[in-house]
Amino acid sequence: MFKALVMTQGEDGLASGAIQELDESQLPEGNVTVAVEYSTVNYKDGLCLSPKGGGLVRAYPHVPGIDFAGTVESSEDERYKPGDKVVLTGWRVGEVHWGGYGQKARVKADWLVPLPEGLSTKQAMAVGTAGFTSMLSVMALEDHGVTPEKGPVLVTGAAGGVGSVAVAILANLGYEVAGVTGRPETADYLKSLGVSQIVAREELNETVKRPLETETWAGCVDAVGGEMLARVLGQMKYGGSVAAVGLAGGAGLPATVIPFLLRGVNLLGIDSVMRPYEDRVRAWQRIASDLPMEKLEAMVKPANLSDLPQLGADILKGQVQGRVVVDVNT
Ligand code: NDP
Repeated sequence: MFKALVMTQGEDGLASGAIQELDESQLPEGNVTVAVEYSTVNYKDGLCLSPKGGGLVRAYPHVPGIDFAGTVESSEDERYKPGDKVVLTGWRVGEVHWGGYGQKARVKADWLVPLPEGLSTKQAMAVGTAGFTSMLSVMALEDHGVTPEKGPVLVTGAAGGVGSVAVAILANLGYEVAGVTGRPETADYLKSLGVSQIVAREELNETVKRPLETETWAGCVDAVGGEMLARVLGQMKYGGSVAAVGLAGGAGLPATVIPFLLRGVNLLGIDSVMRPYEDRVRAWQRIASDLPMEKLEAMVKPANLSDLPQLGADILKGQVQGRVVVDVNT
């Protein structure tokens, strides 16, 4: 038997979560069983924990948790053996397949990545999908020629999970980092992570008629989308690149193509969920080498399974600062 946060549907069709004791035989199909140590809370977890499952959860009862890290307990796949430390993000685990909000998980070996050298399972979940995606974004900017010499990089939704990790990585790589936040009270926190300029959310939330503004940013990691992304495109320097990661501010894009045509701006789509294995290994290795662990620790809020329903609601309201690490065994 093991404990998990299980979402079940009431008669009104709305789902809610409670901690239950489950039997291993209830775990879904898969060829590797993992003793989960830590999970986390991403924006998408907030959706999966919500009463309607955010349109992501297919069937109930459901164990959410899009990320987990732990130790292999049993494996029918030759790549993994009992005792191996592993991390999982994406592949629609926690949405379609049962996820990491339990003390055990059963998944496909193809979805796992060996825990990189130098990272603990706890640190891996302080990173989680949010931080992994930040690293993918930084790698995409680098692949498109963004370097610290080219000018400042803007991070939107800076005090959130994706934003906080992106700031810490970029600052450590020598970039001048500007952070957009709607929470002025996070200024000291953002500065401690490496932001040298804070941009108020209101400044970028307003639509302007001009498709081009002063060339300001060499790169951008955008967790917000919507009006803000449209504005940022018009502020990019010639040849600059924007990694489009999130939609915390909206899925629309009320922009013109002018920044692409007159300034050669690149809009780079970042997907972490279906990312091929080789890219995952490369990104996790870069996390181990380029994300300062003391900054990662400074952004962590500890939690346990019973905190999850509240944290899910909080993250959807943009009220979680940095990263949450869920110890599933406390
Ligand atoms: P968080 O809630 O931790 O961060 C989002 C941040 O965006 C908030 O903290 C807030 O930052 C800002 N924000 C929230 N609402 C608004 C708004 N209405 N207008 C402007 N800014 C807003 O979530 P995550 O970091 O986990 O995820 C961020 C986004 O990235 C989500 O949309 C998520 O779905 C997406 N994502 C995509 C992935 C991919 O594979 N493409 C992977 C991971 C995440 P502040 O208070 O500083 O303003």
